[in-house]
Amino acid sequence: MRPTKAVIDLDALRHNFQTVQKIAPNSRVIAVVKANAYGHGLSKVAKALPEAEMFAVATPAEAYTLRKAGIQQPILLLEGFFEARELPKIVNNDLQIVVHHSPQIEALANLNTTKKIKVWLKVDSGMNRLGFKIDELPEIEKQLATIECIEKPIRLMSHFASADDVNDSFTEQQLETFVSTTKHLTWERSMANSAGILEAKDAHFDWIRPGLILYGCSPMIGSVGADYGLQPVMNLESQIMSIKNLKKGESTGYGRHWFAEKDTVIGLVAIGYGDGYPRHAKNGTPVWVNGRTVPLVGRVSMDMLAVELGPDHNENIGDRVVLWGKELPAEIVAEHADTIPYTLSCGVTGRVHMIYK
Ligand code: PLP
Repeated sequence: MRPTKAVIDLDALRHNFQTVQKIAPNSRVIAVVKANAYGHGLSKVAKALPEAEMFAVATPAEAYTLRKAGIQQPILLLEGFFEARELPKIVNNDLQIVVHHSPQIEALANLNTTKKIKVWLKVDSGMNRLGFKIDELPEIEKQLATIECIEKPIRLMSHFASADDVNDSFTEQQLETFVSTTKHLTWERSMANSAGILEAKDAHFDWIRPGLILYGCSPMIGSVGADYGLQPVMNLESQIMSIKNLKKGESTGYGRHWFAEKDTVIGLVAIGYGDGYPRHAKNGTPVWVNGRTVPLVGRVSMDMLAVELGPDHNENIGDRVVLWGKELPAEIVAEHADTIPYTLSCGVTGRVHMIYK
């Protein structure tokens, strides 16, 4: 069996969940498990979190997967829905809906059902992504109040644009906008994603929506999950599949993007962009091999990548390699690949063995 695997530590997941609860003790937790639980396995992750009061996914299909797996907690559709004809199935599966544009309201108004639907009104407090603009809210509130099948009270939510940057005062501004424009309503609120949970404590409100921190990574610029007491959930691992001597001036890999500065030794590791390792990881990106960190060299190929072990190395073919996880924070690897830890775990592809412990 190819040794390339993502080992998912469900105890670490539960530890992170409890850490989140301690950070926001007065809020209820909506665990964000969209995009296959950020690449960690949707149903496995949800089943490992019986204490989550709600799950959030992006699409109805993700929610149905959870229902089929026996998940009974409430499930929130962060994107709401696209077409009115999706609604009956959404209602039958007892899903909660984020409402963020008028056609959705129209569809709910025309729905023929005796069931009550739980709806979250998305307020655009400045991110200018999903949600109603502030000046639209009074009219939208009125419309929602008249729709019989919507359970009252409705709930409110908003989303931060740059809470991952503690120096950006826009977070404060968005919070102020959300609070001041909804203060006449006694409805429950939700605003904080991972970054808001960690660093915008006034934004915890009734419900928090952690995603990334459940998986053990920090969204905050320049930090890693361990700084907040979090544990990495995914360990992406492989092995050295070949070892090769290089003379000074020789290159490795496609495009000849790296040349040996001295006579040296490289190791070929059985993982590449076909497995989800970022192709844009630069020369020097750290890779953990047998208890030490060595630099990635040359371009990442589809099925393998090269690291410089050096002339005095002790490694052998078959030695364990960690691309990110407990030995090497995904945040650090992401930085070297000009990306964010979210894309790393989400990008792990179907041919990587998923192992749960
Ligand atoms: N809430 C909404 C609306 C989201 O879109 C997301 C993720 O993108 C989250 C919460 C969770 O974000 P994070 O993973 O940063 O905690």
